[in-house]
Amino acid sequence: MSVAEPIVLAVESSCDETAVAVVAGGRRILGQAIASQVALHAPTGGVVPEVAARAHLRWIVPALEETLATAGIGVDRVDAIAVTAGPGLAGSLLVGIAFAKGLAWVHGLPLVGVNHLEGHLYAAWLDPGDGAGGEPVPDFPVVALVVSGGHTFLVAMPDHLEYRLLGETVDDAAGEAFDKAGRLLGLPYPGGPAIARAAATATGPAVPLPRAWLGDSFDFSFSGLKTALRRVVEGELAALGRPPAEEGGLLPDERVAALAAGFQESVVEVLAVKTLRAARETGARTIVLGGGVASNESLRARLAAGAAGSGTRLVIPPPALCTDNGAMIGAAGHRRFLAGDRAGLDLDARPSWPLVRPAGAPATRRPPRRGAAARAYEASRAAEAGRR
Ligand code: AMP
Ligand code: ZN
Repeated sequence: MSVAEPIVLAVESSCDETAVAVVAGGRRILGQAIASQVALHAPTGGVVPEVAARAHLRWIVPALEETLATAGIGVDRVDAIAVTAGPGLAGSLLVGIAFAKGLAWVHGLPLVGVNHLEGHLYAAWLDPGDGAGGEPVPDFPVVALVVSGGHTFLVAMPDHLEYRLLGETVDDAAGEAFDKAGRLLGLPYPGGPAIARAAATATGPAVPLPRAWLGDSFDFSFSGLKTALRRVVEGELAALGRPPAEEGGLLPDERVAALAAGFQESVVEVLAVKTLRAARETGARTIVLGGGVASNESLRARLAAGAAGSGTRLVIPPPALCTDNGAMIGAAGHRRFLAGDRAGLDLDARPSWPLVRPAGAPATRRPPRRGAAARAYEASRAAEAGRR
């Protein structure tokens, strides 16, 4: 292997994207493929776990083939296999994990289990490949905001792989709130991009909606905002003599645009103000953003203006690297690989794996002590040690 630039082949299948990537040095994307299931889940307005797992099975081999073809390399050039082990849908995670184990076993490569949320953070270390090239990597200390369909939290990162949780959502994730608001407004799935598009067409003022500041805390809450939006929508539909949103009632386009703009403004303002304050209070040199909601133009612009005013660097991956992808798992997997993290062939899905362990939790999963499980564990460790 090239010592300076190990090549990691990464597999991501935690939710509704089947993604594979080959990343060199945790930064250069040599090749990647993403098979999106958005169209598959659109009719149900959300991800159906069983349907998602079957689609991963269908697309994971073609995704690997396309990735290697784009990269122009074979697995023989790869130094490690990284795979998302959680959090996510158990059935979906297991498809990627079983596939990655097979690759690692057949090619005699080390296996690294990656936390999906760490992947979203490390997307900021990838070369965006926008032609500008050479954008420096984030400087520590970092404050990172992850805003996705399933997670919303703020962490301080004093160095690589070190996290201190500053705040998190106490109810819905930001992306989930966008998706629910989209459904209320009769917009297509996923709601986030649809709300952003509708808001951009607003010609009048945005409808004012509440913001949940939760005092000085860095926690977030979006359920009150969702309820407020529901009340306005229901009131306006009733006044027009139309059925409720759940029964297909729709507001006129210009009202949808004004409500979408009001909803987006409320979410964006709270996310941006808390992130900028967290950066100020922790003395961060760089603000990093990750997760699907980080592709929201209004949030990006608001943070860019705030960061410029305070002299803090802002690193937001391009939208295609904000939503789920394999390259981000390659970037995080690279760091974990350098740190010596290795998974055995007993690697299991961890559907609720937190990025930051609650205080007092054990540092690692304890290996089984007795019986067949213990023997299998020891055998896989020994096999792995032999490969190193
Ligand atoms: P992820 O869970 O990271 O794959 O991100 C998916 C989530 O991001 C979904 O809830 C989307 O609605 C949301 N999302 C994607 N693009 C945007 C956008 N432009 N504005 C707001 N939310 C978005
Ligand atoms: Zn994600």
